[in-house]
Amino acid sequence: MKHLIIGNGIAGISVAETIRKNRSDDQISIISNEEGAPYWRASLSKYILDIIPPGKMLIKPDGWFDQQNIEQIKGEVQQIDGSGKKIHLKQNGTETELGFDRCCVSIGADPISLPIPGNDLPEILAFRSLAQADQLKTAMTSIKNIVVIGGGVLGMEVVELAVANRLNCIVLQRGNLIGTPLVDEHGAEILLRRVTGQDGVHPPCAEVIFGDGIAEFLSENNHLKAIRLQSGKEILADLAVVCIGIAADPSIFKESGLTFDRGLIVDERQHTNLEGIYGAGDCVIYPNEGGDMAPTRTWVTSRIQGKTAGYNMCGIPCLLFDEGPMYNASYLFDLLYT
Ligand SMILES: Cc1cc2nc3c(=O)[nH]c(=O)nc-3n(C[C@H](O)[C@H](O)[C@H](O)COP(=O)(O)OP(=O)(O)OC[C@H]3O[C@@H](n4cnc5c(N)ncnc54)[C@H](O)[C@@H]3O)c2cc1C
Repeated sequence: MKHLIIGNGIAGISVAETIRKNRSDDQISIISNEEGAPYWRASLSKYILDIIPPGKMLIKPDGWFDQQNIEQIKGEVQQIDGSGKKIHLKQNGTETELGFDRCCVSIGADPISLPIPGNDLPEILAFRSLAQADQLKTAMTSIKNIVVIGGGVLGMEVVELAVANRLNCIVLQRGNLIGTPLVDEHGAEILLRRVTGQDGVHPPCAEVIFGDGIAEFLSENNHLKAIRLQSGKEILADLAVVCIGIAADPSIFKESGLTFDRGLIVDERQHTNLEGIYGAGDCVIYPNEGGDMAPTRTWVTSRIQGKTAGYNMCGIPCLLFDEGPMYNASYLFDLLYT
């Protein structure tokens, strides 16, 4: 049996690990378009803050893939041919085809960008990959004013980084709550007081501007200088980090025959609408406990989905563990939240 896994994040690795544990002779290949070994994506802030050294960011120790006889392929999957059971892969400018018996798509999701003038300036960053974390880490050492676009929990992680680098920080957030949707209304109030220094204990970390959209990134000599808001107000910005959400890339599914609607649609076995093709992690949408189709996009869920896909790809029937209501626990600044 030839298994092909697209994407080597926690979902893809969990698929590979599960197949190998159950099928010692099957062929397993895992493809990634990212440089370097797979890493703890959810710990990128701690990596930037030097709390986790680079060597501890790896999910698997050096040599693990060889020991497990799992082939690692560097390249970008361009298209999946679902009925032909093959993929089109681009490697160093050359396109090749790879066939499979079973495939799991675990390509994660990409940051959403803002389609407004100036969005291609070099100082407008996203925060998803190790390469972007390195960019952010370097950029923050030589600037004064950072603007965080999007005040969800990812945006709050960037505020923490700004505080560590003693930057002037402004957060732009739609609506009137921060930390949402993971944090509830009461939690959002506590978080806002902590961030703005209104808790009477901590100095302000950032100014938060609610409900004003962004009209334009303003530049000088092709470098970001300020941001014009829809109200007309201009704010100084040496760097902007866009944290307004993520979305699965639909491009590789276009001619695949796979059902895609905001994500690759899978069932409780992580199986798609096409025989032999599975999906796991941030790129999929599956029925939640209420029967609605929803993405969860957390680390542990991606791992559980990867394992579930792996068992089913081996022919061992396995249903996705019902986690109940969507759950997330972490901490922001010194505040623990669940
Ligand atoms: C900064 C940050 C903090 C986070 N904090 C938390 C947290 O506290 N708790 C939590 O539960 N979750 C957290 N998350 C979310 C968590 O990291 C994700 O849910 C999880 O990493 C998703 O894993 P995945 O394997 O589905 O996708 P990914 O880890 O994104 O892996 C997908 C891989 O596929 C590759 N790929 C994409 N397209 C192609 C292609 N066409 N060809 C080849 N390869 C491709 C990608 O480059 C990537 O390497 C955080 C995320 C970030 C960015």
